Amino acid sequence: MIEVIIIGDVTGPSILFIGNDTGGLALTSALTNSVHRYPSFSAFKNSGLASPDGIVLALADETEAVDIAMAIRQDEALWLLPVYSCVSVDTQSLLYPLIDGVVSTLDAAIQSAAAINERTGQLSIDPTLDIDNRVLAFLASRPEGVLRPIPFWQSPRLYRYPLLEALGGRDIDCWAWLGRLQNRGWLTRVKLIDRVRDCKQCGAAHQVFVDTCPNCHDLDIQQVPFIHCFTCGNVAPQRDFMATGRLTCARCQTKLRHIGSDYDRPLEDHECQVCHFAFSEPEVIARCAHCDHRQTPSDLVVRDVLSMTVSDQGRLVAEYGRSQDLLDVFDQVNFARPSVFRFSLDWMLALEHRHAALEFSVVLLRIRDIQKLIDSIGPARVSMLLHGFADRLRDLIRTTDVCTRTSENQFWLLLPFTDGKAGSGLLERLKTFQQQTQQSSGVSLELDIEFFASDLVEDPPHEAEVLMAEMTGRLE
Ligand SMILES: [Zn+2]
Ligand SMILES: [Zn+2]
Ligand SMILES: [Zn+2]
Repeated sequence: MIEVIIIGDVTGPSILFIGNDTGGLALTSALTNSVHRYPSFSAFKNSGLASPDGIVLALADETEAVDIAMAIRQDEALWLLPVYSCVSVDTQSLLYPLIDGVVSTLDAAIQSAAAINERTGQLSIDPTLDIDNRVLAFLASRPEGVLRPIPFWQSPRLYRYPLLEALGGRDIDCWAWLGRLQNRGWLTRVKLIDRVRDCKQCGAAHQVFVDTCPNCHDLDIQQVPFIHCFTCGNVAPQRDFMATGRLTCARCQTKLRHIGSDYDRPLEDHECQVCHFAFSEPEVIARCAHCDHRQTPSDLVVRDVLSMTVSDQGRLVAEYGRSQDLLDVFDQVNFARPSVFRFSLDWMLALEHRHAALEFSVVLLRIRDIQKLIDSIGPARVSMLLHGFADRLRDLIRTTDVCTRTSENQFWLLLPFTDGKAGSGLLERLKTFQQQTQQSSGVSLELDIEFFASDLVEDPPHEAEVLMAEMTGRLE
């Protein structure tokens, strides 16, 4: 048995309880004596207590807990605080993405909150942070900060991101916002949760699929048995052949005695009750339950529902604030998205394998130890230094060259019509630029450079992915 001895007046972090149901959570802790209890969120707000280190929700009613968690994440002073529940929470609940977990002891909440608050302390957070930066800061401050979609059938989009709704305000279009954050490279996908199909007109995912007549598009169709008369080729519903009480073709009057020799069952087994068209495959139409727009299923817009986290680049933005997203200066130099860059490189490689005459080069630049540089000369001077370097880079590359960035500090240049000789000249100039960044204190921008020229390699890889992986590997 371990004995804990506490000497003196230990004033640990301040943890706040909201609610009455403690879910079996003992209110005593070896670490703290600052525990405050309030029956409701408004009672806490009215108390005038300054921002605590963390909040534990002790509410049996989940709807109430969701409302309070939303209010906390929207509150100017509290939005980034660690929040826990001491009552179990379903992972598919709207509450789940808004809190930092379920705790069964007070000490667990205090320890987890301390870890989050320490990370928060390393971020650049000022009260005027815009909502983009809030999202990044929130994710970066959590050990496993994930934006989770929650299934919600009542929503036209079928899923909701409660955290985005809380941080951005309820009027924001979370899906468009998410797309923007992803396009800027600040978020990266964790897991594909679902794939839904949206109305082309209004974007809603509530679609009613109806079988219709391929001829007149009416939905009044019926499945009926059909008969195909071998003598005259007549294809018609079976009832048309039954008029005489025996199976007789209504068109040629032949008596049909044996299936297989006189007649058979055709593929058609549907009849439109409006235009009497006979067919085998009904036409499927998607009708939007929100705007009544009718479209074929292939016209629907496919949308991936993803859980997302902050990317290396997004983390950098959270650490230094938007204005000092240091490395994004390079994103203004003929920047292409990595997928576009890979596509172009794939194309160049394919051309090169067919017509060896087309020469091109690829340069991989890695900026080393940016953090060390920041620690030694400060983010402001590092920013100036990077801007200077990016300006020179911009002068150096042509409008036909393509650049991209595949991680926080890794840049790629694709240079068409540049052979090994021209490429090595460019490398020399890059090295000169790098030397020019040397500061009086001796520190400078440290660059790793890797180079590929199509005319210098006997049989280059066929795929951009492979070539880029090889080059990255050589940098290690
Ligand atoms: Zn619609
Ligand atoms: Zn019809
Ligand atoms: Zn017939």
